[in-house]
Amino acid sequence: MRFIWEDFLKIAKEELGSRVVETWFKAVSITRWDSKEKVIYLQAPNVFVCNWLEKNYRSVFQTHLGRLLNVVDPKVIFLPTSSKKNEESPESNELQVSVVEKKTPEAKIFRPAHVIPYNNGQKTHLIGSKLSERSGYLNKKYVFETFVVGPSNSLAYAAACAVAQKPGDLYNPLFFYGGSGLGKTHLLHAIGNTIQAQNKKAVILYQTADRFVSEFINAIRFDKIERFQKKYQQVDVLLIDDIQFISNKDTTQEAFFHIFNSLYDARKQIVFSSDTFPQNINGIAERLRSRLASGMIADIHQPCIEVKTAILKRKAEVSGEILSDEVAHFLASHVTSNIRELEGALIRVIAFAHLTKEPISLALVQKVFFNDETPVEKQGIDFKAVIRAVAKHFPYSLDELRAENRNKEIALVRQLTMYIMKKHTNKSLREIGAYLGNRNHTTVKHAISKIEQHILEDAKLQRQLSTIEKEFER
Ligand code: ADP
Ligand code: MG
Repeated sequence: MRFIWEDFLKIAKEELGSRVVETWFKAVSITRWDSKEKVIYLQAPNVFVCNWLEKNYRSVFQTHLGRLLNVVDPKVIFLPTSSKKNEESPESNELQVSVVEKKTPEAKIFRPAHVIPYNNGQKTHLIGSKLSERSGYLNKKYVFETFVVGPSNSLAYAAACAVAQKPGDLYNPLFFYGGSGLGKTHLLHAIGNTIQAQNKKAVILYQTADRFVSEFINAIRFDKIERFQKKYQQVDVLLIDDIQFISNKDTTQEAFFHIFNSLYDARKQIVFSSDTFPQNINGIAERLRSRLASGMIADIHQPCIEVKTAILKRKAEVSGEILSDEVAHFLASHVTSNIRELEGALIRVIAFAHLTKEPISLALVQKVFFNDETPVEKQGIDFKAVIRAVAKHFPYSLDELRAENRNKEIALVRQLTMYIMKKHTNKSLREIGAYLGNRNHTTVKHAISKIEQHILEDAKLQRQLSTIEKEFER
């Protein structure tokens, strides 16, 4: 069950975003699965959370847990943790929820930076206190050996290997760019892991740019700026993921610029990843942009079907499974968007095979896929379908959504449209932004997280969204 629950959280994160999952779903657990009656019993911390889940997310649990357990529309029952069940009053519920909300990653960002011992006694710098790959750890899972190389990523791979062999020597900085889920983070960690294996003393810091921003703000708030700078200046290898998130943060950029210069002058290796070419990152100071682009730039494209097939086989192998060519090819040709989603599909297939104790055959995969509405549904929904559905509920035309208009209501509908497009089509943030008036992908990202937040607080918006989504079922 734990296996299934973890898979469910991954899928939910893809679908609803991590904020929703962190806020609401992380506190839930499966207590029982009654396969005869097809009832899934879930436990949540209190009545309020149960009601909220029931009202807003029941269908998500039903669809995806149902899919993982291979039943159509199971019954889902949310139960509050028994010891508290009878004590709940509306006030105490509210209190509980604020505790749950404090668990979101955003709440954890504003903690002082600190240094803690890393695995084998080596000192590695950590930022914040969340123990995940995103907070400074190198993820041991991401190594060169598990990275499948093909025409779409061979340049990036070769550059990464070269840098891992001779950090600070050959390509500095190294800059990867490419769409989401295509292996940028994997390569960053692989570089770090290789260098660490060769030199146990090397101080390697992996950090996402948005966490860098938060850490910087935190350093200012707590008057720890010197410590912050010193920490970054001490690293031997700096791996900064998704550097585009530093855009429009002028003061942070300034601080980063100085860190960059001092590391660069000391011939320390710096590696960046981004979803776009440096010249196309908006809201970034010219002098920083020219630094980002000053070394080697390697792009990663969508993989071809052969590479996707090879990746699937490799991933299955790591999980102790063997995929036939036929099965791998079927999956590779049905999941078109990116490698992360390819992995998600494989996880579902493996979970299904374990559960039914059947071998992974083409028939089994087809069963999983054609019982599985989402990918098929997703492929059937394009931008126009979203615009049509939105236009049925709001009096705005596509031209109005595309225009520069800052009218509050149009802006909200535009943001909602972006959210729906991300959730129901396979398009990237960039494509969505381009379609809705040539807007930047960071604008789209911002819009999506705003709507995610709104939905949590605004029952009316939640209802409007589900009415629009019902259009897609027709
Ligand atoms: P990005 O950072 O570009 O969004 P990630 O590096 O997080 O993408 O990759 C998403 C998933 O796909 C990861 O689990 C990663 O291991 C896997 N992946 C991506 N590219 C490859 C590849 N060429 N070979 C094997 N796995 C890959
Ligand atoms: Mg990434």
